[in-house]
Amino acid sequence: MFKEFFDALLEGKVLGIKCKDCNSYSILKSTCDNCGSRNVEKVELSNKGIITTFTTTYVAPAGYDKECPYVVAFVELEEGCWLVGRLDIDAKLADEMGQDLIGKEVEIYGKEFPNEPYYPDKKRRVVPMFKLVS
Ligand SMILES: [Zn+2]
Repeated sequence: MFKEFFDALLEGKVLGIKCKDCNSYSILKSTCDNCGSRNVEKVELSNKGIITTFTTTYVAPAGYDKECPYVVAFVELEEGCWLVGRLDIDAKLADEMGQDLIGKEVEIYGKEFPNEPYYPDKKRRVVPMFKLVS
């Protein structure tokens, strides 16, 4: 399921589930985030969202050092679920924009990064990316 999500992400699609019990949406998994129900169906979510918060990482976890600094953002999809990924802008620019970034619309896509030793999928590492739309 993990793999399916990231494969679709590389094609610019965000897979999720719709709960048949409470009608809320979650990022692809087997149970509803909202009520825990397993009575869910797979759906394609919007690939657009809004930045709710972000943080710039200057000191990366082991294996990510070369990618620093990068900007990690929380994005709320149109369906109301959240996704964590990286903002596709320069860390310096993100710092300059500061709070202005909050509420900005982004498009979601997947990007393949070089592998590192701690990643569960040894073949490849796909990271959700957010590109500013406006
Ligand atoms: Zn539910």
